Amino acid sequence: MSLTGKATLNAKTGMLSHSNQKIPTTHADEFGGPFGTLLTTLALPVLVLVLAHWAKKGYLDLFFFSDEDSRTIFCPSCDNLPLLLKCAAGLCAWFLALVILWALLPGLWVEGAPVHGNPNHRLPYKLNGHLTFWVVIGSVVLSRLPLNEYLYRYYENLAFADIALCFLLAGYLYISSFAKDQHGKPKVLSIVGNSGNAAYDFFMGRELNPRIGRFDWKQFCELRPGLILWVLLNYACAQQQYKVYGKVSGSMVLLNVFHAFYVWDSLHMERAILTTMDITTDGFGFMLVFGDLAWVPFTYNHPAKYLVHHDPNLSTPVLAAIFGLYVLGFYIFRAANSQKDMFRSNPNDPRVAHLTYMPTKRGTRLLTSGWWGMARKINYTGDYLMGLTYSLLCGFDSIVPYYYAVYFCILLVHRSIRDDVLCQDKYGKDWDEYKRQVPYRFIPGIV
Ligand code: NDP
Repeated sequence: MSLTGKATLNAKTGMLSHSNQKIPTTHADEFGGPFGTLLTTLALPVLVLVLAHWAKKGYLDLFFFSDEDSRTIFCPSCDNLPLLLKCAAGLCAWFLALVILWALLPGLWVEGAPVHGNPNHRLPYKLNGHLTFWVVIGSVVLSRLPLNEYLYRYYENLAFADIALCFLLAGYLYISSFAKDQHGKPKVLSIVGNSGNAAYDFFMGRELNPRIGRFDWKQFCELRPGLILWVLLNYACAQQQYKVYGKVSGSMVLLNVFHAFYVWDSLHMERAILTTMDITTDGFGFMLVFGDLAWVPFTYNHPAKYLVHHDPNLSTPVLAAIFGLYVLGFYIFRAANSQKDMFRSNPNDPRVAHLTYMPTKRGTRLLTSGWWGMARKINYTGDYLMGLTYSLLCGFDSIVPYYYAVYFCILLVHRSIRDDVLCQDKYGKDWDEYKRQVPYRFIPGIV
């Protein structure tokens, strides 16, 4: 991301500094520019449907397009419009139910990070995602709903309807970004989605924090409809496996537990989302709408869908070893992230007071020992180990479930490069010195 116009990244705060709220024109150079974002917008939905097809088949069916029924892969409901409408209505009802829970369940109202670095401009956010998670999961488990009869049976139709709804929502958000807010002022735009090129801005998100009253579309969609649906899709796959084979395999149980735990952890730590790049910098465009609402539930669930009919029957020692790897990954992920959070909130905390650090011209300190002295992105390594276990639970009979391991590697490497560029902008020469002191990115002594 680079900026043009008068705005610059303030060397001290790392935030956008500009005299008024007018956001400068974005230089459209991320994700391959306008052409790259257009291609990604068209390709990712197709990939979701093809991945769903491969997970069902259990092998890499490279010639799916020459299949007689390839039309049903790309457009599962084309022959059955009423079914497509029912699936879309079901997804809208799910979304609406979660909005009602957001409104009715108690929750703490907190202030978000300064909008574009302006300490006088912070938005209020309601935090009740954790409670929502338990209400939904509790209701589903207690009611013993046969979710497989809906979510597994109509999986492809639901994925297709979900994608169509994502295009509608992203279109609405793009168009409404040109309208005035309730005070008659222009909307606050994102610094990454204001290029003037419709395809690029539609993808990156033109408006920074689209809202209806105090309902914030981006914060709501980041952790609720897609993430909780992912857990329900997994549960539906477990029910389906039980229905067909009369038992739920060890792999399926562990996968359900791992994923549910990951989602629970995200919702439990809901507040942390408010300082992420997604909330503070990216606009709410197709990239995040589709990522949150379609990509996460329908592709992260991929290993569970594969396991329904292609379970590798792993032995107990192998399952125990995979469990161990997951625990190790979670330990690194949580310990590294907490160490940085602790150090940043109170450097005198006895748990971090002994760590060495590097003062910087920007004013913030960079840890040079502990987890952050081992590698600059050791937290990503822990996260990756967890992601790898999802594929390992599917055994080695097919390459199909390794989609997740490959995808997650690309995501984290790309994100680490994005963050490195951002830190180079924020810290300048200090960042070069930090990289000299901590030369490894992911694995100490190796990468
Ligand atoms: P980080 O938590 O790694 O935060 C990066 C920021 O930390 C830098 O911009 C810098 O910001 C600060 N920083 C960097 N080095 C140091 C240091 N040595 N000492 C102190 N501060 C430092 O990045 P993310 O927000 O991307 O990731 C958070 C977690 O979320 C990760 O564990 C990641 O794995 C996970 N994640 C998961 C995804 C998924 O799909 N499952 C997707 C994305 C992330 P500053 O100095 O300005 O504070």
